[in-house]
Amino acid sequence: MNKEDILAFLESKKDEMAQVLQELVRFRTVSGMKDELSEKRYYDETRTCFEYLEEICARMDLPFTNLENEIAEITLGDYSEIIGVPLHIDVVPGWEKGEYEPFAGIRVDNVIYGRGTQDNKGPLASCLYGMWALKEAGISLKKRIKIIIAAEEETGEWNTIFNYVKNYNTPVFCFVPDYEFPIVNAEKGMLNIKLTAAWDKEAAPSPIEFVEFSGGERVNVVPDKATARFILQCDEIDMLSDKPEWIAKAVEDRMKEKPARDTIEVTRAFYGKSAHSSKPWDGHNALLDGLAFLKDCEYLPSKTGRLAQILRKTCSDMYGKGLNIDITHDFIGPLTISPGILSLKNGSLDAYLNIRPPINITCDEVVEQIRSKLDEYTTSLGFEIEVKQEGKCFEALWIDPEKNRTYIEPLREAFTEITGRKATLSAATGTTFAKAFPKAVTYGPVDPENDIEKAHQADEHVTLDQLLRNAKIYALAMWYLARE
Ligand SMILES: [Zn+2]
Repeated sequence: MNKEDILAFLESKKDEMAQVLQELVRFRTVSGMKDELSEKRYYDETRTCFEYLEEICARMDLPFTNLENEIAEITLGDYSEIIGVPLHIDVVPGWEKGEYEPFAGIRVDNVIYGRGTQDNKGPLASCLYGMWALKEAGISLKKRIKIIIAAEEETGEWNTIFNYVKNYNTPVFCFVPDYEFPIVNAEKGMLNIKLTAAWDKEAAPSPIEFVEFSGGERVNVVPDKATARFILQCDEIDMLSDKPEWIAKAVEDRMKEKPARDTIEVTRAFYGKSAHSSKPWDGHNALLDGLAFLKDCEYLPSKTGRLAQILRKTCSDMYGKGLNIDITHDFIGPLTISPGILSLKNGSLDAYLNIRPPINITCDEVVEQIRSKLDEYTTSLGFEIEVKQEGKCFEALWIDPEKNRTYIEPLREAFTEITGRKATLSAATGTTFAKAFPKAVTYGPVDPENDIEKAHQADEHVTLDQLLRNAKIYALAMWYLARE
């Protein structure tokens, strides 16, 4: 069989492939659930989902290996060199407000709706059918192809995939169908920094006591709200000669109350716009507005106020200028920083920064630079701001296209043959499984020129044409990568 036969075979399996995807969507493989019952459900659904895949593979006569329900492999060929296609079977929770039910696997005309149709079950269906087409065609391959299906990706807990890479026969090259076409051969790195400080609580400047400034819930989200809380001693408040409007207003409101209280709590809220921390320019960080207010607020104890000033000065530039880590890479772009969570009290600071470095600075160097920059303030503050890296960190990824022509060219060829367009290279701000393997790029499933990106959103969906197009691209890519 030749290329035309492979493509014709896939055309003939379009509806069947859609049905398999509908079935896959019906398994509620929602990872990262905190309560025991939901967690158990995730394990059960993952196990039965793997069983279902095993059945499908048996029908296709493709060897399926289940590694303790944590990872499964579908293999074609038996050569020692491996081309890997890592995917994940877990999904983020369904949606509340949408037109379609997230786990029903609904098909309306030529569209399949459901959680995972793009991220990452749709690509799994396309890759599986692509592999089957190669097998049916009896194409001669010089490398083994492995579809590697992980049970857990969305939580960021990648221990199983790291162990797999360490302990199993590692692929010489992988394409990861979990982002965008054509070829994404670079990803920014990712690390979270925790800043802490503790000092002796200072006497509150009467009659206005600063309680706390806080905002943000998740470190990888630009916070859209922050609040500063104060307590006013009402009987002393009139001693202040000119009160700012927000205090005057609170006092006036209190006067209307019967009986009037001795103290009142006043909250100043700051509103921004949330965005993913990998693209801080899409959002507006409310914490930074709050810090701008606090740095000039005369009602803060002196050390707290000084610290607010320092934080504003060092953390407000999203490219890291204030922390001396502003560095950029011609292809990957600039380092970015996004303060995600912060709590500042009279006597303590806890803050988290999400940082995305390009390839020309390591995570350790980022930590060191921040530490030495913030150390400069120790004397004037009278205490130290402690800088610690928190959780896993990922170095930036860059696959040199010149040195890796044997892998990049087949991907270009497959994309161009199916779409008729040139396969350009690009860089991503996010993180995929490409970072977990020694040599990997991302490749689809979304074609930004034609498809709507719906991963993690309500009414996630894929069209049958997209599924088929991807199956064709992936079939040819596997073939061309493994033909020599
Ligand atoms: Zn994904």
